Amino acid sequence: MTTSSDVIEDAPQADDSKGTTATDTAQPSATLGGEQKRSIEQIALLLFIIVPFLALIAAVPLAWGWGVSWLDLGLMVFFYYLSCHGITIGFHRYFTHGSFKAKRPLRIALAVAGSMAVEGPLVRWVADHRKHHKFSDAEGDPHSPWRFGETLPALMKGLWWAHIGWLFDEEQTPQEKYAPDLIKDGAIRAISRQFIYWTMLSLALPAMIGGLVTMSWWGAFTAFFWGSLVRVALLHHVTWSINSICHAVGKRPFKSRDRSGNVWWLAVLSCGESWHNLHHADPTSARHGVERGQLDSSARLIRWFEQLGWAYDVRWPSRSRIDSRRNTGQDGSRRKKETAEAA
Ligand SMILES: [Zn+2]
Ligand SMILES: [Zn+2]
Repeated sequence: MTTSSDVIEDAPQADDSKGTTATDTAQPSATLGGEQKRSIEQIALLLFIIVPFLALIAAVPLAWGWGVSWLDLGLMVFFYYLSCHGITIGFHRYFTHGSFKAKRPLRIALAVAGSMAVEGPLVRWVADHRKHHKFSDAEGDPHSPWRFGETLPALMKGLWWAHIGWLFDEEQTPQEKYAPDLIKDGAIRAISRQFIYWTMLSLALPAMIGGLVTMSWWGAFTAFFWGSLVRVALLHHVTWSINSICHAVGKRPFKSRDRSGNVWWLAVLSCGESWHNLHHADPTSARHGVERGQLDSSARLIRWFEQLGWAYDVRWPSRSRIDSRRNTGQDGSRRKKETAEAA
């Protein structure tokens, strides 16, 4: 029941048996850190989390005073949604789950846009996320909030783990096993390896635009503060909230073997990813907000890409497919049992 076939159906998967190992295929690593995070990487990660977070806290008093312009806010919103959709449409729905096929230029653009969210190299992101689906909320899930048990203190600890703590885990998801289809693609492998350059580009672009438009260093600084630091911090916390909040609370109208929930108040900020219960019930669906009124900007954009001819073979869920996945009462105790069985 825990096969990865319900995560992505078409992509070639490496064998779970010993047949395919790193030495057989001899592909260069798609990330610079390798399978184990080195301490220098741990420190860099800590900085990337703490600095934008401090910026977010400092942002509030600054906004009331003098340090924000309409240009800064415009840059923040633009780069927020550019990198957010890079993650949701690109890293998640396309690269992880194969919910549509993309022409080559779109494939590359999505890889770059997602890398600009500063959430780690593409191939590592995909490998971690496929593992999350394979073991969702059972042993082996890289970031389940239920890791430490079901009591309130255990859940508090678990929420922290699912939100940020798991990022510092020494154990890395083997990329050869979970993302062989991406490692085979030379351009994708290169984009994944050069993660640090996409990070620098993502942080530098708002500052450059702000400086050039205002022709001042101060304009460059405030654009950097809002368009780079605050934007990255906010997107990090929204993305991590899908792992923590959306696996702890929310409505569960669909059948899934985990604790994933639909959280309406995160829909706009998460570009439609917080309809997370439907996503775990039907992981390859290109649309997560399937009910009337459920905002899903990622699905809207995929539809536009399809109309432009850039995306094709999109897995739009039919009404009967959605209905076949609905929970029919008394789901709570049954789901718990299923989770136990899956473990
Ligand atoms: Zn999930
Ligand atoms: Zn997913």
